[in-house]
Amino acid sequence: MGDRVLTINAGSSSIKFALFAPDERWPRLLAAGQIEGIGAKPSFHARVVGGDRLDVETKAANHEQSIGVILQWIEGAFAESQIGAIGHRIVHGGLAHAAPAIIDDAMLADLRLLNPLAPLHQPHNLAGVDAARAAFPHAPQVACFDTAFHRGHSFVNDAYALPRRYYDNGVRRFGFHGLSYEYIARRLRETEPVLACGRIIVAHLGNGASICAMRDGRSVATTMGFSALDGLAMGTRCGQIDPGLVIYLLTHEGLSIDELTHLLYEQSGLKGLSTLSQDMRELEASDSREAREAIAYFVNRIRMEIGALTATLGGLDGLIFTAGIGERSPLVRAGVIDRMAWLGLQIDDHANVTNAPRISRKGAMPILVLATNEEAMIADHTMAAAGMMATAK
Ligand code: ADP
Repeated sequence: MGDRVLTINAGSSSIKFALFAPDERWPRLLAAGQIEGIGAKPSFHARVVGGDRLDVETKAANHEQSIGVILQWIEGAFAESQIGAIGHRIVHGGLAHAAPAIIDDAMLADLRLLNPLAPLHQPHNLAGVDAARAAFPHAPQVACFDTAFHRGHSFVNDAYALPRRYYDNGVRRFGFHGLSYEYIARRLRETEPVLACGRIIVAHLGNGASICAMRDGRSVATTMGFSALDGLAMGTRCGQIDPGLVIYLLTHEGLSIDELTHLLYEQSGLKGLSTLSQDMRELEASDSREAREAIAYFVNRIRMEIGALTATLGGLDGLIFTAGIGERSPLVRAGVIDRMAWLGLQIDDHANVTNAPRISRKGAMPILVLATNEEAMIADHTMAAAGMMATAK
């Protein structure tokens, strides 16, 4: 069996991939890339570590053909390489799948039943699995779930106050971004072992955004819930809204289910509020009132959730920013920390504008900026699940 692991993160119109080799602490990245615009005008980008970036148009018309294009490129770039296993990011594992595992027909059938719980992600994730199984019939395919890291929540952080039968039937606060939080928790254990044992809040602020409260490296509560719509406002998703508003939109405005889904997932959040863009860089560069208000809303919601999660944890020992905005937006981080001295959070302005790894003032509670790496987490899980390393870390 080869020792390379291919990770696949299949979305609605894109497939991101990365190729890793085993290494001491973390899998070593060899190459990465993606196919975008599947179903419209597909293009392929890839780079071997240390090499030039390749950008080409492709004729891949669906997920299966796209995996074929990726495979062809990998075989060309790594003639001697042997793919030992494929790791897939699967957004929803439901109640039953709380750890990475090798995919078989029964699991796939089970995961398809979860499509309605994550309609914009799960079917595409599984299309990626189907395509990879067809392309690599002999390599183990490993499912790595975004929900798994949160499956140990207590009842109060896992339930909605609906009639009890809903909870019993699996209507839970599943939470997402688990692979990112798990990566951060493990990195923290390596670099800041004392802090890692404490009460930590991690803000994953990307296109999708959520916050996770952790104690001793385990998830205690998180802002996303049954679906990936809840909690923070995001690039195009609404975040927390009053369920009464959903009833109003359906009954008074007469939205169809498809229109409502499109509104809440694709037209809301930063894009909806700003009327300009979902991209934080564009909003920061704009001096329109709507762009400023969209950022202010985004920041305010993060502050509120940090307060709530601190109460859940019974105090706070450190705050970590990660993902695109968390890692690279001094403006958002400064807005979040502004007037948070009551909690012990104080920002070092110079460290913040330079995206330094530690942006707290000397002597104040640690505020860290840590790059997430969901692909490395998937590769690590995949190597362990496929028996490609002596022991899981
Ligand atoms: P995804 O959830 O798609 O993986 P990312 O983690 O890549 O998203 O984050 C994307 C977000 O990060 C976008 O809103 C983008 O504008 C923002 N971002 C990236 N670089 C910067 C930057 N230098 N300053 C502010 N925002 C940034």
